[in-house]
Amino acid sequence: MTPPSIRLFNTMTMQKELLEPAVPGEVGVYVCGPTTYSYIHIGNARTFTSFDVVVRYLRHRGMKVRYVRNYTDVDDKIIKAAAETGETAVELSARYVEIFREDARALHLLEPDVSPKVSEHIPEIIGIIQKLVDKGHAYASQGDVYFSVSSDPDYAKLSKRNLDDLCVGERVQPGEQKREPLDFALWKAAKPGEPAWESPWGPGRPGWHIECSAMSARYLGESFDIHGGALDLIFPHHENEIAQSESASGKPFAKYWMHCGFLDLEGAKMSKSLGNVVRLRDALGKVDPEALRFFFLSTHYRHPLSFTDKGLADAEARMEYFYETLRKVDERVAGKDFGKGPVHGEPHRFFTEFEAAMDDDFNTAGALGSLSGLFVLMNELADKPPVKDKPLVGRTLQALREDVRKASSVLGLFEDDPAQWLLRRRERAVRERGIDVAEVERLIGERTAARAAKDFAAADRVRATLKEKGVDIMDTPAGTTWKVAPAHGG
Ligand SMILES: [Zn+2]
Repeated sequence: MTPPSIRLFNTMTMQKELLEPAVPGEVGVYVCGPTTYSYIHIGNARTFTSFDVVVRYLRHRGMKVRYVRNYTDVDDKIIKAAAETGETAVELSARYVEIFREDARALHLLEPDVSPKVSEHIPEIIGIIQKLVDKGHAYASQGDVYFSVSSDPDYAKLSKRNLDDLCVGERVQPGEQKREPLDFALWKAAKPGEPAWESPWGPGRPGWHIECSAMSARYLGESFDIHGGALDLIFPHHENEIAQSESASGKPFAKYWMHCGFLDLEGAKMSKSLGNVVRLRDALGKVDPEALRFFFLSTHYRHPLSFTDKGLADAEARMEYFYETLRKVDERVAGKDFGKGPVHGEPHRFFTEFEAAMDDDFNTAGALGSLSGLFVLMNELADKPPVKDKPLVGRTLQALREDVRKASSVLGLFEDDPAQWLLRRRERAVRERGIDVAEVERLIGERTAARAAKDFAAADRVRATLKEKGVDIMDTPAGTTWKVAPAHGG
C-alpha cells in the first residue's frame, strides 16, 4: 500500500510539504498544553480542537500516532494564583488539571497518549540543562541558569526575527542575573514559599521553555515529526525550545511546525486585561459541544477566526440539520438488509473529496463542504417515498451513512445518537425561549385527534397556534415530533 500523501504547512519553511515521518507510518506529535492556573478560554479550545483533528485524521489514514500534550503545572502564574486562593501551587494546579480534563472530554477531545506534567519530569529537565551547561550553551549565575542566545548561530530560525531588532529596547531587568538581554532562564533559584527542587545549582524550579524540550525528548525522542501550538507561541517559546533542544542534542528537533491561527471576540482581540475572555466552560453552557467544534472546524486552522453569537447560532442550526438528516436516514435504513446490488450514482465520491481536502493541510473547511453535498443527497434519498427502488435507495443510504461514520471519527462530530442529540438541543431551546412543553404536547394531542376525525381545518389551526409559540411540528412514520423554530426566522 502506498503511504497517504498528506501535505502540511510547515512554519519553519513557510511552505506546504509532504508529510514524511522519520519512521514510515509512525508519527510523533507534540502539542504545547495548558498552563493549569485557570480555566482555558475558547482560543485555547480552538487550538486543541485543531490538533485533535490532525491526530484523528492521521490515524484515519492508517498512521500510528503517538500524541503528547503536556501540562505546565509549574509556573509563575500558578504561584501567583495560589497566593490569591490560599491553596498551595500544587493543589491549585492539580485542581485545574482536573477542570481541563472535564472541559476536554466535554469538547470530545481525545485523551493524548501521554500527558506529562512538569512537576513529574524535573530529573529530565535538570539533565538537559546540565548538558547545555557542559556544552557551553548555558551558564549558572547566582542560583539561576540561563541559555546563552549568542551561543546558538541558528537562533530565531523559526520566527525569522532579526537578532539586532530583538535586542532593541531589551534590558536585563533588576533581579535577573543574565549576561545578555536575550538570554532566557532555564532554571530559576527558589524564592521563599515557592515550590522548589534540588539541583546542581541549588534549590529552584525550571523556566517555562525547557519543559517542552525535556518532555518531548523523553516521549518522542530528540528528533520527532510534528510540533504544534498556537501562533503566539512561535516567539519566544518555540524558538527557545528549538535552541535548547538542538544545542543539547546536536540533532534537528521537530521536522514540521504547525501553528493554529488567532481567535478574536466579535472582531476584538481577547485579552485578560480587557476582561473580554470567554472561558470554554462558559461557552459550553450556551452552545452544544459539537456545534462549537463545527464552528471551529468551519474555518481552516491557520486562518483567523472571529467568535460571534451569530457564528455559533449558525453552527448549531447546521448541526441540527445534520442530526435531523441522520435521524431520518437511521429510521429508514438502520439494521435493515437491502441485499447486494447496485447503488445510486457514486455515493463515495463525497468522502473521496473529504479526504482530498484533509490531505491538503487538514483543510476541514473544504472537508465540511464535501460533507454538505453528502447530506444533500442523503436528504433527497431519504425523502423519496419507499417505492419499488427501495433496495437501491436503501443500499445507497447505507453507503452514505457509513461514510458519515468515518467522517465522524475524523472530526469528532455526529458522535451522538441523533434522537438524543435533537432532544438535548430541544430542551436547551425550550429553556432559553420559555416554552411550555406540557401545553405543546396537549396541542399536538388535539391535532392528532382532529386529524383522526378528518377535521383538517382544526388540525391546521393547531399547527398555526404552535407556530406562533415558536414550535414547528413534523409528521414522521414514527408519529408527530416537534422542535423549537429558529429564533431569527433563519
Ligand atoms: Zn511548549
